[in-house]
Amino acid sequence: MAYVYDTTNIFARILRGEIPNRTVLETEHTLAFRDIAPKAPDHVLVIPKGPYVTYDHFCAEASEAEIVDFTRAVAAVVNLIGAEAHGAGKGFRAITNAGENGVQEVPHFHLHILAGRCIGPMICTD
Ligand code: AMP
Repeated sequence: MAYVYDTTNIFARILRGEIPNRTVLETEHTLAFRDIAPKAPDHVLVIPKGPYVTYDHFCAEASEAEIVDFTRAVAAVVNLIGAEAHGAGKGFRAITNAGENGVQEVPHFHLHILAGRCIGPMICTD
């Protein structure tokens, strides 16, 4: 089944400049900004500018230029917030939620970068 992108979602509105964001990094194909309800001292969302609903959608249909740009932007964000897992930083967790079972709230693909404290066990098992 084809992916259906909702152009009214909040991240589409951020990309159109309709609502503000706390930008960490912007590149040709990618925007990174601080989560409005941070779950860690550093909580940054990295999103492609293109209309992709989920990570699998992005992986399947984004251009190579978009994928490379997004991937390099993640590295740049981790570096900007001092969360690299080698050298001075203490590491981070990258999470993407997809669909109903992934408990995705905003239907525009985004990667959460959580850092600044120990993020704890990988998932809640109860
Ligand atoms: P998810 O559950 O993976 O879809 O995560 C959506 C995330 O978007 C949550 O962590 C929200 O706090 C965050 N969020 C929602 N609205 C905004 C906004 N206007 N600016 C920044 N982050 C937002």
